[in-house]
Amino acid sequence: MSAPAPHFEKKLRAGVLGATGLVGQRLVSLLAHHPWFELTEVAASERSSGKTYADAVRWHLDAPIPAAARDLIVRSLAPTLECDFVFSALDSSVAGGAEEDFASAGYPVVSNSKNHRMDPDVPLLIPEVNAAHLEAIPLQQKNRGYDTGFIVTNPNCSTAGLVLVLKPLAEAFGLEKIFVVTLQAMSGAGYPGVASLDIQGNVVPFISGEEEKMESEPQKLLGKWNGERFVDAGLGISAHCNRVPVLDGHLECVSLSLKKIASLEEVREALREFEVSSELAALPSALRNPIVVLEQQDRPQPRRDLNAGAGMAAVVGRVRECSLLDVKLTLLSHNLVRGAAGAALLNAELLAARGFLTRRVSADDGQSLAEPISR
Ligand code: NAP
Repeated sequence: MSAPAPHFEKKLRAGVLGATGLVGQRLVSLLAHHPWFELTEVAASERSSGKTYADAVRWHLDAPIPAAARDLIVRSLAPTLECDFVFSALDSSVAGGAEEDFASAGYPVVSNSKNHRMDPDVPLLIPEVNAAHLEAIPLQQKNRGYDTGFIVTNPNCSTAGLVLVLKPLAEAFGLEKIFVVTLQAMSGAGYPGVASLDIQGNVVPFISGEEEKMESEPQKLLGKWNGERFVDAGLGISAHCNRVPVLDGHLECVSLSLKKIASLEEVREALREFEVSSELAALPSALRNPIVVLEQQDRPQPRRDLNAGAGMAAVVGRVRECSLLDVKLTLLSHNLVRGAAGAALLNAELLAARGFLTRRVSADDGQSLAEPISR
């Protein structure tokens, strides 16, 4: 049984910073029919601000630009938007300062960008993995002098799928070492990303900063919040990251050593049966079973398995013995959904369900600042 979904009398108003980029577009698209949130503001660089969203964006999705977004005027990054909270899908060259400005001005910031992920008072969140890390928010607000604002982040796109798959294994058997080789899609680099002459018919065995993120973010995600600070999981992790000529979907080849001996069938079962709490199952973007295990020898494949669970599932296949560590497997996740826009949306849904998102005052809405939404 799912917990009853929270009831919001009015939808919460969402802004998207970096709305014209690949992640921002996904957010705009996912917000179009969202039951709890409505898109009221879009913001981007000076190249885009002042134009309508339809004129500013180079739209990459198959479905058309949502009607509610087409005529919104793209704003600059001044923290004066008519919305209750913001998603940040900004380029990392500007995300750090802009997110702090919005949080200081009272806006909850749900970020995709790398800038604040490893800050000692900022939750790096995958709801299915470490929802308890949200307890750090009051200390963050106290440390930084934020009133109603705060920053919550989601992990790097390749870390997101990996850690979702590691979580049930860590719980059932304990983890010691992880060796991972990624084959990452071109859309992971944003637009225009890697030049076509560099990636067509080729593999680029370097993605700046990616291996460092994959080796550090899982330590925080699988670690604990002890009331004062995040304590790392203390795992041994080695990552090799490669860019491949695939549009969307990061494939990862993983070898693991476990603390407890487990059969391959027990590993498959732990993955297949990983089920979220009833609180999470009630969130609009959540999957009750976020890991799909395939039996076919040649799966998962980006083209065939990318959209499992509307892009929110991690798809695992080829669970087999590893002659160096204990177990090896292949996993796939959608970098723009589970690894970015869908991840941020799920984070915002959990924040809303836990009462962290509140209505802010606006010109056409005489309510007091930060009035709690009735639930
Ligand atoms: P992108 O396609 O390059 O989009 C970047 C966005 O940032 C655009 O909206 C752009 O606006 C805006 N921007 C750039 N410079 C700006 C400035 N000086 N002032 C204001 N806005 C500015 O990148 P993306 O792939 O969507 O990624 C967005 C963020 O999410 C990045 O931090 C990235 O690392 C992170 N992320 C990406 C993925 C992925 O799979 N792509 C996954 C996880 C996290 P204009 O259009 O006006 O230039």
